[in-house]
Amino acid sequence: MWRGTSAVAITAALDPGGRPHNAARREGAMEMVVVEQPARAPSAVSKPMLEEPPPRWAVVVLAVVVVVPFLALMATVPVAWGWGLSWLDLAIGLVAYLVAGFGVTAGFHRYFTHGAFKAVRWLRVTLAVAGSLALEGAIIQWVADHRRHHAYADREGDPHSPWRYGATVTGLAKGLLFAQCGWLFQRESTNRARFAPDLLADRDIRTVDRLFLPLAAVSVLAPPVIGGLLTWSWHGALTAFFWASLVRIALLHHVTWSINSICHVYGQRPFATRTDDHAANFWPLAIISFGESWHNSHHADPTCARHGVLPGQLDSSARFIWLLEKAGWVFDVRWPQPQRFEARRATK
Ligand SMILES: [Zn+2]
Ligand SMILES: [Zn+2]
Repeated sequence: MWRGTSAVAITAALDPGGRPHNAARREGAMEMVVVEQPARAPSAVSKPMLEEPPPRWAVVVLAVVVVVPFLALMATVPVAWGWGLSWLDLAIGLVAYLVAGFGVTAGFHRYFTHGAFKAVRWLRVTLAVAGSLALEGAIIQWVADHRRHHAYADREGDPHSPWRYGATVTGLAKGLLFAQCGWLFQRESTNRARFAPDLLADRDIRTVDRLFLPLAAVSVLAPPVIGGLLTWSWHGALTAFFWASLVRIALLHHVTWSINSICHVYGQRPFATRTDDHAANFWPLAIISFGESWHNSHHADPTCARHGVLPGQLDSSARFIWLLEKAGWVFDVRWPQPQRFEARRATK
């Protein structure tokens, strides 16, 4: 099923000179195009695709972080039926979902991975911290994985393509599961030195990256502390832990991961993407994913700050970035350029 990719060089993450693409942007290298492996391989690109795999204990921790919140998500209906859901738990959960969610979509994804805008230092650190609260992994690994995904979308080398096991019904069912979260358990680490050298060179970001475990603990423990204090009861702490920690984490996990699975199989493809790249716009996830499910548009123009570029396509991450720009904390935003998207209109 997989096509060989030995001749395909990384493109979306690094330009052929091996620099982060936002550096290339500044110098006017506008296009994200597939290029053949250059004769003289530049330093970052010549590094292997993978680095040392994580230790086995990390897989056990990962399993707990993925499975326990998911079980809570599965239990929401009986719990809501039996004990209800208080407005307070809903409010704490919503705020936590918004903070971690925008941290991932506007922060980890559009800013750190794709350089869709620039931000003042305190906001850069804040976005890195907020995204870490989603418990989707430490920032530098997250960005390296995602840049690798764009460089090899739906071909060999993509860390989480749902087409991995072929286009048959069983192959796709297996592939969707793999793209959803099976890939996390591969014990395969994308080489950060190759795919995220810009973040490795940034002291602030290295610090946030190192603090991932304490930040994860804050994300899990803050809701029950707040719920317990506001209701002055253990019961309030427990229900806040269930709804605003476990259920909120699982929901954001699976919404984010659905972009990797569903949005590479089902939906509309108004814009042309690279051969083999199946990225599609899947409207039912637009609101809950903060606009990330306009994934075909995103793969057609990865550095664009807005993914919902067509009329009526809600994109709250783009609105969030717009508000930050109005406040003066964000600048050089790469808003959609109609002629770029027109040039990418799918012909069929
Ligand atoms: Zn994708
Ligand atoms: Zn992306």
